[in-house]
Amino acid sequence: MASITENLNAFKKAIPEYVDLVAVSKTKPVADLQEAYDAGQRIFGENKIQEMTDKWEALPKDIKWHMIGHVQTNKVKYMAPYVSLIHSADRLKLFKVINKEAEKNDRVIDVLLQVKIAEEDSKFGMDPEEAKNLLSGDQLKKYPNVRVVGLMGMASFVDDEEQIKREFSQLEKIYNTFKASQGFTTLSMGMSGDYRLALEYGSTMIRIGSAIFGARNYD
Ligand SMILES: *Cc1c(COP(=O)(O)O)cnc(C)c1O
Repeated sequence: MASITENLNAFKKAIPEYVDLVAVSKTKPVADLQEAYDAGQRIFGENKIQEMTDKWEALPKDIKWHMIGHVQTNKVKYMAPYVSLIHSADRLKLFKVINKEAEKNDRVIDVLLQVKIAEEDSKFGMDPEEAKNLLSGDQLKKYPNVRVVGLMGMASFVDDEEQIKREFSQLEKIYNTFKASQGFTTLSMGMSGDYRLALEYGSTMIRIGSAIFGARNYD
């Protein structure tokens, strides 16, 4: 099996330069993240705030930490001092809490609005119609310490490529509709199994776990 360093180097060659690679290190030990760091990786994605905070404390401070998992409002305070991007902002209540905690830390926190594009209904994310309404209106102005820099979505876990394409295409359309007015820079779309398709639909940021670090025992 290829090493973490070899996997990362292969990815850097395979993806366009404008695409950001988030190394999804959830459940993996600090030593694995250190190896990726030593190979030049600086963006890491985690899905549990406690685990991310423990790793933030243990690892070099120039790492950008991305929260990619479902966020409970009562835990936002633990990552507010250092988190670089929250991919999973999916409800107004969460915007409100992120805004409050960002303000306490005297910073503006970048987030992505997570939109539910999967046709299967097991995923988190804001309903597409609700997301469009939110982006069209002026409700977000109430949260000056939260900056929405783009969108995030997860396709269904299916083999049907046409379905995955439909789902990515839907998110790309919403992204393009609001890109100029919102000043979007980031479309976070694509994981180990579907990042090639995501790149065809305008993804600018891919979240790769198992293809870098190997299979996880649990999530
Ligand atoms: C775990 C996870 C990933 C990475 O998944 P892989 O299939 O291992 O690449 C990407 N995005 C989210 C939101 C995840 O929870």
